[in-house]
Amino acid sequence: MNKAVRKTIIAGNWKMNKTPSETTEFLGELKNAVQDADCEVVVCVPFVDLQNAVAAAKGTNIKVGAENLHFEKSGAFTGEISADMLIDLGVDYVIIGHSERRQYFAETDVTVNKKVHAALAAGLKPIICVGEHLEQREQGITAEVCSLQTKVALKDVSAEDLKNIVIAYEPVWAIGTGKTATADQADEVCGIIRQTIADLYNQGVAEATTIQYGGSMNAKNAKELLSKYHVDGGLIGGASLKTEDFGIIVAAAK
Ligand code: PEP
Repeated sequence: MNKAVRKTIIAGNWKMNKTPSETTEFLGELKNAVQDADCEVVVCVPFVDLQNAVAAAKGTNIKVGAENLHFEKSGAFTGEISADMLIDLGVDYVIIGHSERRQYFAETDVTVNKKVHAALAAGLKPIICVGEHLEQREQGITAEVCSLQTKVALKDVSAEDLKNIVIAYEPVWAIGTGKTATADQADEVCGIIRQTIADLYNQGVAEATTIQYGGSMNAKNAKELLSKYHVDGGLIGGASLKTEDFGIIVAAAK
């Protein structure tokens, strides 16, 4: 199979950074830096920045994503945001199950699955994060952990819906630490996730699914990581906050 059949997606995850006015300014610069992109370019931004991001991305090749959502449609969930609210704003993608949400906000594989269904039902494209902790890697259970997280996240998701899903392999020990998985480690685990999808659905579905790597990807290491067969893009935190670095990563995704 040729990896070119899959969509390469470079997505930024701003985490809790940038104000609405900084968002407008940043995207004004970013659109020039990524206008010749050969891949899908996504910026996932804090809820309060979404409206400005959507306005600034209009007429460009940049898509906008949220960093989280609630799985219920509406109701008494003070402080939460639904999929319908995001769609109404013009948002395309949503990150689900980022390790920081699992670690600090008690998100579990089961809530991830509920959020995936809520996102799909509304027409949002989920970017589902899976990845092992350092102790799990050292224990030799990376494959089991990533496979289990993938299986639970995709429970009752149809093969048709998988066309709108992106999986991001994000080893927790590599996020925000400056420690990147080697290109071979990233390729190996993205391959394990692809095999999990093949087992759940079939080989054709697995070969068509975009699987990103995330974890200290930057302007220097992106090319090598993205050259790997199973790595179909990146989910980028720190380096997505600088237009120049993000532009270089996007350019590396040829
Ligand atoms: C992330 O937040 O998803 C991430 C990969 O962060 P960083 O690139 O900073 O490691």
